[in-house]
Amino acid sequence: MSPYRNFEEYNLEITDELKEKFSSVINEIGEDATRDGLLKTPERAAKAMMFLTQGYQQDAEEILKGAMFKEDYDDMVIIKNIELYSLCEHHMLPFFGKAHVAYIPNGQIVGLSKIPRIVDVFARRLQVQERLTHDILECLNNTLKPKGVAVVIEASHMCMMMRGVQKQNSVTTTSGFRGQFEKIETRNEFLKLIGSELS
Ligand SMILES: [Zn+2]
Repeated sequence: MSPYRNFEEYNLEITDELKEKFSSVINEIGEDATRDGLLKTPERAAKAMMFLTQGYQQDAEEILKGAMFKEDYDDMVIIKNIELYSLCEHHMLPFFGKAHVAYIPNGQIVGLSKIPRIVDVFARRLQVQERLTHDILECLNNTLKPKGVAVVIEASHMCMMMRGVQKQNSVTTTSGFRGQFEKIETRNEFLKLIGSELS
């Protein structure tokens, strides 16, 4: 056996059901789901959809709790430019961008890699950017109970870029602050460190 295997597993029953439905969609839009290039498309689309919504089966609080450590450090911890890919719940089209997360520990810190992981847990669901921001913020606040937590998300929405208003260069920014970040000086220090225009 090879030393490492990247293993993906899909529920076969759900894959089959979704496959049928994607096949109907392809036919309904005026295509032919039986033509060569499209033969395996319903199955690929089904698996892609399950991958992109795997967050429903994951528990962000459990992920954080599995990597929390006692530590006296009480300065701001910032993880910026976390790549983010999600699906808007109105059109099921992608929105993507960056998340910046900060917290001020209150006796406990969390393994740094867990923060991008919980961003993914909430991003891999049908979302609106506002709720995604809030989900990450509240999860950190309730689990880690820090002195303060801040989340900023900057994202581009395909539903705006490809259809509707067709504003190709617009970026939507959302933010949420708790605890010490509600103080203007702390918030500004964080915004300066992530290089955000927000104030
Ligand atoms: Zn949308």
